Amino acid sequence: MIETTLDIQAIRKDFPILQREVNGKPLVYLDNAATSQTPQQVIDAIVDYYHRYNANIHRGVHTLSQEATDAYEAARQKIQKHFNIAHSHEVIMTSGTTDSINLVANGFSSFLKKNDEILVSAMEHHSNIVPWQMLCERTGAVLKVIPMNLEGELIMEEYHKLLSEKTKLVFFNHVSNALGTINPVKEIVDAAHTVGAAVLVDGAQAAAHIKTDLQALDVDFYTVSAHKMCGPTGVGILYGKEEWLKKLPPYQGGGEMIAEVTFEKTTYAGLPHKFEAGTPNICGGIAFGAALDYMNSIGFEVIAQYEDELVQYATEQLLTIEGLKIYGTAANKTSVISFNIDGIHPYDIGTIVDKLGIAVRTGHHCAQPIMDFYKIPGTVRASFSFYNTMEEVDKLVEGVNRAKNMLL
Ligand SMILES: *Cc1c(COP(=O)(O)O)cnc(C)c1O
Repeated sequence: MIETTLDIQAIRKDFPILQREVNGKPLVYLDNAATSQTPQQVIDAIVDYYHRYNANIHRGVHTLSQEATDAYEAARQKIQKHFNIAHSHEVIMTSGTTDSINLVANGFSSFLKKNDEILVSAMEHHSNIVPWQMLCERTGAVLKVIPMNLEGELIMEEYHKLLSEKTKLVFFNHVSNALGTINPVKEIVDAAHTVGAAVLVDGAQAAAHIKTDLQALDVDFYTVSAHKMCGPTGVGILYGKEEWLKKLPPYQGGGEMIAEVTFEKTTYAGLPHKFEAGTPNICGGIAFGAALDYMNSIGFEVIAQYEDELVQYATEQLLTIEGLKIYGTAANKTSVISFNIDGIHPYDIGTIVDKLGIAVRTGHHCAQPIMDFYKIPGTVRASFSFYNTMEEVDKLVEGVNRAKNMLL
């Protein structure tokens, strides 16, 4: 058994859901790339908000409203600090990565003209493809794809060749949710900047595994969803460099985002409020801050090291199953193992292991172009978090073996 510095059993006690059974078996939760589980500390923050100080923010002079505003803004500062962001007004609270990407794609409508080029990587989540296609339809800009190799790594030579004066935007995910590949952010960003293109990095999958210094990476935009890193659903951030956020037009109109409104003309609020129309997910934002506190109390370095051990062990054990093929074998990868067994549909494996209490994802993982690239309908995806154990890996391997014997 591999040694680790994490007290996994103590950590598991923080997650009430991990104590439950599914189909009469202890839950083995290996769908962390879709959403992570929630520790008691975050649940407490949610309950505390509704018990003690539920109120609308930035508006009331009354005590509850001030307490809620303070807690919400404190969460924004935790996020700022965690990602080493220069100013807290560069943290735009959104409903998550999809919302953040749409905000930017919408704003860029006014900056692009016909035949300008947008580069996206071949391993994107649909939420990082469709908004750009819609942007291209509105503006006449052209979407170009940075290809990948069979290991699931971007072909950097091809990327450098695609860059030109026409390139206005480059978009890719920091970590692929379907393959686990960690992309070389700094190299991609630096090259894009030499032609004056802006870069948006989808950090939805990376944020739970890698503590990212956004100033060091020099990205122009970065997106995060709280629910992939121990926080609640429906909240996340868009990080944007101040210069970009000032240039971008507002996304949605409404309350909170204005300075002054008359029927003739409205002037907009400053950052970050210009992009935060309406009552936000106040409780969610506060709970996101609590999730960051929780994960930082464990420490991202230990988390990353332990998850690497888990993935390595799971990879070795799964490969002992004859006919099993892993998709995504990048040298630099994290936390995700996508696989298939010759002659078996991924859905059938997922259904059988669910009977054993094991939650894995099956299908295209919102990344159909990747499945087309490998000419497969989908994969079985096991995705790991720091609260998973080596014993759970053994149960997965046993379950997949059982499924194989039943189906072949
Ligand atoms: C989950 C995920 C998204 C979408 O996040 P939402 O929270 O559903 O908006 C986008 N990209 C990647 C890589 C993801 O893993």
